[in-house]
Amino acid sequence: MSKTDYEKMYKTIFDTLGDLTPLTVDCGVLCDGACCKGDQQTGMRLFPHEKSCLAITETESGERLAVCNGTCDRNERPLACRIFPFFPTIDESGKIFVEPDYRAARLCPLISHSDEIVFDPKFFKALKKVGKILAKDSECKNYLYKVTEEIDMYYSFLSKE
Ligand code: SF4
Ligand code: SF4
Repeated sequence: MSKTDYEKMYKTIFDTLGDLTPLTVDCGVLCDGACCKGDQQTGMRLFPHEKSCLAITETESGERLAVCNGTCDRNERPLACRIFPFFPTIDESGKIFVEPDYRAARLCPLISHSDEIVFDPKFFKALKKVGKILAKDSECKNYLYKVTEEIDMYYSFLSKE
């Protein structure tokens, strides 16, 4: 896809998610915004070809991370922040699911207390749609596979604890 195609794709994705979040209320009150308390060394992974107005660093493996100081313009936050702590996982046949991102299990009470929480179904529907949009592009699809594998690894690690 061209640069413009990617820009259009991310605009569609952000429009699809709109203001939806896992809860209809601000979950930051549960944990004092734990997921926004990174430092200049940590960051949110950008999806393939995703642009960001935040500072960007690159990991040794070439992954781009958007780095913030714990505050941002909500309208400009990366996709990873908009969908946290969930992820559109993908199976071998290319089917998209929405699952908790178990990499954040120790950080986010939405995962550790998921049985007691009523989530907004509209968020999950929109995120599934986002996964389907991403899966139409081969690079983004590979990224979904890569992260799905990481989430599965974390899940089996947690299950053994
Ligand atoms: S860590 Fe989880 S509960 Fe806390 S603000 Fe982030 S998404 Fe919400
Ligand atoms: S970019 Fe915004 S939403 Fe994402 S971690 Fe930073 S402050 Fe939080």
